[in-house]
Amino acid sequence: MPHWTIHLFRKGLRLHDNPTLLAALESSEVVYPVYILDRKFLMSAMNMGTLRWHFLLQSLEDLQRNLTKLGSCLLVIQGEYESVLRDHVKKWNITQVTLDAEIEPFYKEMERTIQVLGGEMGFDVLSLMGHTLYDIRRILDMNGGTPPLTYKRFLHILSVLGDPDMPVRNLTAEDFQRCKPPPELCLAECYRVPLPEDLEIPRESQSPWRGGETEGLQRLEQHLKNQGWIANFTKPKTIPNSLLPSTTGLSPYFSLGCLSVRSFFYRLSNIYAQSKNHSLPPVSLQGQLLWREFFYTVASATPNFTKMAGNPICLQINWYQDAERLHKWRMAQTGFPWIDAIMTQLHQEGWIHHLARHAVACFLTRGDLWISWEEGMKVFEEMLLDADYSINAGNWMWLSASAFFHQYTRIFCPVRFGKRTDPEGQYIRKYLPVLTNFPSKYIYEPWTAPEEAQKQAGCIIGQDYPLPMINHKEASDRNLQLMKQVREEQYGTAQLTREPRADTKMQICICDH
Ligand code: FAD
Repeated sequence: MPHWTIHLFRKGLRLHDNPTLLAALESSEVVYPVYILDRKFLMSAMNMGTLRWHFLLQSLEDLQRNLTKLGSCLLVIQGEYESVLRDHVKKWNITQVTLDAEIEPFYKEMERTIQVLGGEMGFDVLSLMGHTLYDIRRILDMNGGTPPLTYKRFLHILSVLGDPDMPVRNLTAEDFQRCKPPPELCLAECYRVPLPEDLEIPRESQSPWRGGETEGLQRLEQHLKNQGWIANFTKPKTIPNSLLPSTTGLSPYFSLGCLSVRSFFYRLSNIYAQSKNHSLPPVSLQGQLLWREFFYTVASATPNFTKMAGNPICLQINWYQDAERLHKWRMAQTGFPWIDAIMTQLHQEGWIHHLARHAVACFLTRGDLWISWEEGMKVFEEMLLDADYSINAGNWMWLSASAFFHQYTRIFCPVRFGKRTDPEGQYIRKYLPVLTNFPSKYIYEPWTAPEEAQKQAGCIIGQDYPLPMINHKEASDRNLQLMKQVREEQYGTAQLTREPRADTKMQICICDH
């Protein structure tokens, strides 16, 4: 008997390479495409700032439009997910719920609850992996049931597994023809995508990035036209302070599943196949997708992955608790223009370059302030459009040298790092207009400018823009000793995520101690 199905979108907000939705359509007489907007669940799973709320709503609107074009619609239902499902399973005589399998503990918990509900109410649950290149469980199995803890080991496992599955075909109007939900439902006001004001989300703060599959695909196609750039992409050579993204800028779209990583992976493979030479992991574009996959794999099987306490791969560090300093970092008030410009871009746009993330994360943790990576991770979680449970925590552990990264003597200098690729400080001038008129000579360390120069620039340091909150040289020397001591004391933990040879990921480090 064909099913009456609710397809529950969680991430995976797309119609291309959507294996679960395809399976739903192939096994059903009627499919109700549903997004449950459970604010309590969403906010408890990961704190979500205004910019990401806008991005989510735009992505839902786009999905709604694209489903309508194919003769279906998106039914957005606000409320607590369990009771919403219970009500609608009964109301619509549902026999199957389909959803993408996810690795985050909160999504796994949701799936377990739905399974139990299915047992109780008599519906089937079908969940397939669509958010990663591989079914992560296969990687774990191949590694003996535990995650490979180094990128090299991870690549080795993948080489045994072979290429990821090919993307499934795009969905068409014919797929939806047979499975239309009743048309009056699609028109019902109560199922529309809410407006920002319905959710009391201020309209004025919006990122220049627009959410949705359509926008994501446009950006993707634009990049793929530039085959030379794709083939030669070398991550450490991309520029953190260019005024437009120097990398793909696709992360917000991957994060919500508006874009399929498998589709991107195979489009890259096609370009590589036509190129004489191309870059390779870890620095190539496919290499970036594999970093994503790596962090998903480790996160999926590491207890307390987003915390220090109870996390077996993470060094246990006695970080300072300093709310005032944390606040200055968060609010772009450190007095280091390079750091403050990055944090301002993060506030205004919700996206910053990977190496810019390096700069501010190192500054907060092992570089200058010695404040826990968990605090930084929470700020990123709130502000980033691409905020992701596994990747965010994994990279914060990396940057704070709590796991994965071992060249801890390399500390980014908050003055020299940015100067290398933007000596005139155009990026700082854009995001910190108060410093616009400073001569380039002083733009990265305006406190060194003579009083006359400050007056001429119309900005007195200590009055119109803060003095540096810390002496970088003294702080980083002290922190280095602390880190050395921690690593000696916790040698076993430090070795867990260490490659046999030196790290190969980022060779771009500015100030070696
Ligand atoms: P590209 O260089 O074009 O790479 C293509 C894709 O590969 C990205 O969209 C992303 O999906 C993946 N990718 C790239 N770099 C990494 C990486 N280092 N680790 C894992 N996947 C990667 N990325 C997130 O998507 N969400 C986060 O919450 C997040 N938090 C981070 C926190 C810190 C402290 C740091 C240092 C990095 C973080 N990153 C995060 C990783 C990385 O900075 C972003 O993925 C990247 O900058 C996104 O820009 P892009 O799409 O142009 O990347």
